Amino acid sequence: MQRARLYNFVKGQRVRLNSLVSMKAQTLNTPAPCEEHPLVLEDMATPQPADDEVLVKVSVCGICRTDLHVVEGELPPRLPKIIPGHQVVGTIVEKGKAAKRHAMGARVGIPWLHRTCGVCEYCRRGQENLCENAFFTGYTANGGYAEYAKAPESFVYPIPEGFDDIEAAPLLCAGIIGFRALRLANLQAGDTLGIYGFGAAGHVAIQVARHWGMKVVVCTREARHQKLARELGAEWVGGGQDTPPVRLNAAIIFAPAGELVPAALALLKKAGTLVLGGIHMSPVPSLPYELLYHERIVRSVANNTRQDGIDFLRVAAEIPIRTQTQVFALQEANEALEALKHDGIQGAGVLSISG
Ligand SMILES: [Zn+2]
Ligand SMILES: [Zn+2]
Repeated sequence: MQRARLYNFVKGQRVRLNSLVSMKAQTLNTPAPCEEHPLVLEDMATPQPADDEVLVKVSVCGICRTDLHVVEGELPPRLPKIIPGHQVVGTIVEKGKAAKRHAMGARVGIPWLHRTCGVCEYCRRGQENLCENAFFTGYTANGGYAEYAKAPESFVYPIPEGFDDIEAAPLLCAGIIGFRALRLANLQAGDTLGIYGFGAAGHVAIQVARHWGMKVVVCTREARHQKLARELGAEWVGGGQDTPPVRLNAAIIFAPAGELVPAALALLKKAGTLVLGGIHMSPVPSLPYELLYHERIVRSVANNTRQDGIDFLRVAAEIPIRTQTQVFALQEANEALEALKHDGIQGAGVLSISG
């Protein structure tokens, strides 16, 4: 559908047809295990951008473990019905009255951080990732498992030219979160980083870490992920419970497995940081205090600021980051999530919508 077709002239007056034009969308009504195919392909009204928003014709949408947590209900439903997906790449086909930042036709990405309030104590302290009143794409605002999606213009990112749509999609969450996790890990060139779990975020984080001169070891259970880690320059690769032969300056756990926390802490050097990269994790077992002593730090990553996204996309284009993707059709969203759940995706999964 072209922009021209969004309008019609009725008795000389321009009438918006969006509310009449329907789009295909994968919607979630009731969370359930993805094997039960809780996403339903429906016809819905094309969204209408508010004054400060843009409407994006979706080319592709990356799939993320957070989508799985939304669909399966680990993240409690906040709306009776939601379109998941927060790594949305597409072009602007319509703008609200006050939306002036991007040109019509610009290629942009809609990320997880959909909108913040700008006035709460966290927003005022430069920690908008912790905003008390934030909206999240694909969770508390409709996302990109659909032909169209809308978002505030100041929360979408221009996509650097060196990436095609499919390559760009996993950068928008997995990439940005991996980047923020790496920043919070507080490493210097020459340091050794351990990465636990090597999916979409891990395979981007290793490329940034290597670019910054760090050595990386990877623990991941899937043989295919281990192979990819070696190809991307890991110095040592082992299974989830294997012990790397070196002590770590920092570790990042991307796998949603709390039992990895003591194992990773046991490998950290003094003052090392353990970063937990997921939005959901199984319970963390109790720890002997000596694992934390010597100023070791355990911290989670929650969302990202817009500045993280801007900085990451710049670095990603500079390196340049190469993402490995496996493409599914919009109709296959349930199957794609199932593959993700069972570690069946090499790199990152991406739904192709109009791309
Ligand atoms: Zn706020
Ligand atoms: Zn995500």
